[in-house]
Amino acid sequence: MSRGRIRFVLFDYGNTLVPYGRREAAVLDRVLADAVARWIPGVEAAAFASAVGRVKDGLIRGALRSGEEVANGDLALALAREAGAPAAPPGMAADLEARVSRAFVDVLRLPPDVLPVLDSIKNRYTLGLLSNWYLPAPLHRSLEAFGIRSRLAAAVVSGEIGRVKPHRSAFEALLRPLGASPGECAFVGDNLHADIEGAAALGMRTIHTREWIGGALDGDAGASGSAAPDRVIDRLADLPSVLEGMEAA
Ligand SMILES: [Mg+2]
Repeated sequence: MSRGRIRFVLFDYGNTLVPYGRREAAVLDRVLADAVARWIPGVEAAAFASAVGRVKDGLIRGALRSGEEVANGDLALALAREAGAPAAPPGMAADLEARVSRAFVDVLRLPPDVLPVLDSIKNRYTLGLLSNWYLPAPLHRSLEAFGIRSRLAAAVVSGEIGRVKPHRSAFEALLRPLGASPGECAFVGDNLHADIEGAAALGMRTIHTREWIGGALDGDAGASGSAAPDRVIDRLADLPSVLEGMEAA
């Protein structure tokens, strides 16, 4: 299949633009454990944090299989049951969401390369972002806070569409507002299954970034996809020259 010029460069968020690995997940697990301990008697937050990680991993694996994003209410219910309660008490789900939302924005940091790289390519390509995360509002807030959002023509979060990568409808939810067709797109992501295999299945060109893989969650670092990426980068700073090489190929 001959593919035309790359006109759109599309990014994953966690472990592609900003580190989101074991350290960041552990902070959020502890926030959730503290919150559950406030609502369910007998829960000891420090001990419950590892159960939170296990419950979340199970839900995320299920979402990747089904293509449907986890709802906050389902997470609250699963955590309540893990803590021995039959259901989440009224108000608990909203409290968990509020606490995780605050902590999510605080736990992320913007690497110094990101804005210069986006600026160096944004006149040549239209940029977009597609992230798998169940709470869209804090993710959009962090994109604003870091100055990333103004460099993007569109940003879509799985939690607002109910679908996750690698499901094709998640990618289509980003292509639609961009007016892009897959053959005009290069997708940059760290997860071989969700990002690379998903984008390749639509006919996008793919770039696998390994910059943050050392700290990645097992589900990201260990993800294997049946599609091999077109290119691999070890630093986001290498993206502009890799894109140039792909154009020339
Ligand atoms: Mg990622």
